Formats: sequence, structure tokens, C-alpha cells
Amino acid sequence: MSVPLPIVVTNLDEARFECTFGRGCDGICCRNGRPPIYPEESQRIRENLDKFLPGLRPAARKLIEKAGFLSGRQKYGLPMLRVVDGWCVFFNQGCVLHKVGAAEGDKFRYKPALCALFPLAKSERGEWYVRQKGYEGECWDLFCLNPEQTTVPARESLQEELALAARFEAEATADSVA
Ligand code: SF4
Repeated sequence: MSVPLPIVVTNLDEARFECTFGRGCDGICCRNGRPPIYPEESQRIRENLDKFLPGLRPAARKLIEKAGFLSGRQKYGLPMLRVVDGWCVFFNQGCVLHKVGAAEGDKFRYKPALCALFPLAKSERGEWYVRQKGYEGECWDLFCLNPEQTTVPARESLQEELALAARFEAEATADSVA
């Protein structure tokens, strides 16, 4: 039975999505992903950096220790994570931010919002949608964004991401009335 959502996701009824990380996918959404980072996320990562450094690829650790984890590039007016050898600095057979958070009981604790929500996104009109090939001008050619690759309804596979998006919306509403 599907539970009514506290947020509207425009294409949720037809979208299909299945993450196959570890089952055929190496985590290619983290290859040159360069997510933009909000100030509070960057602060949280910085304050807990010692937890992440031992789990990183040696080149990524060296780069972060020398130059930090944020690059000089910007997206949506926010700094982006660095990339080394073609992969996000926090990628090492999976997201190290995710792994450390999961070990502490919350896999989203340190993960940038844009990564944690993927493949959910917000359109320029402020509407939530599931990123899918051919929808909302999707330009990222990832196989998992092609609905032809799976029969799994996004409504089922994205329950945690949908709950997270609803939480973000509730927090934003609370902030706006505070
Ligand atoms: S922060 Fe984690 S999930 Fe996001 S691109 Fe980097 S490794 Fe991937």
C-alpha cells in the first residue's frame, strides 16, 4: 500500500529507479560528480574530517590535507567538492561520508544534500521530481536514470530519499515562519 506523501513529486507515478551500486554499478554517480556544498554541510564535514581521512584513497587524502575538500568551482553559487583521478575526493569504493554516517546510525549525517537526495531534484519552478532520461531536460547520461533499465517503481525504491526531501521541506517551512 502506498502511503500519501507530504510532498508532491511531479513524475512519481511513472518514474522507475533502481540503484545497482555493488551489483554491477561501481558508483558512477560519484565520478566527476562535484556536488555543490552548503555552508553548514561544509562545516560539518570539516569538523569531522579526522573520521573520513583514514578511509579515503591516498591521493584524495593528500589533496584534502594540502588544499581542502572544496574546489574553486561553483554551482548554484555554492563551492563544489574536489575531484581526484576522476572521482569525488570522498569516494573510495562507495561514499566515505555515507559509510561513516551509516556506522554512526545515520547514513545521511555527513552526505551533501544533493547526493543524499539523488535522483530526486527540484525543478526551477520549485517542484520535486525524479531525474529520468527525457524528463525536465535531463542531461546526465547515467544508465540508472533511464527508466527502460528497470521495472522498479521509484515510489518504492526511493522511500528514504522521499522521506529526506519531505524532512527538508518541513525544516524550510519551519525556518520561514520562525
Ligand atoms: S560526497 Fe559521496 S555521494 Fe557525493 S559525489 Fe562524493 S562520494 Fe559521491
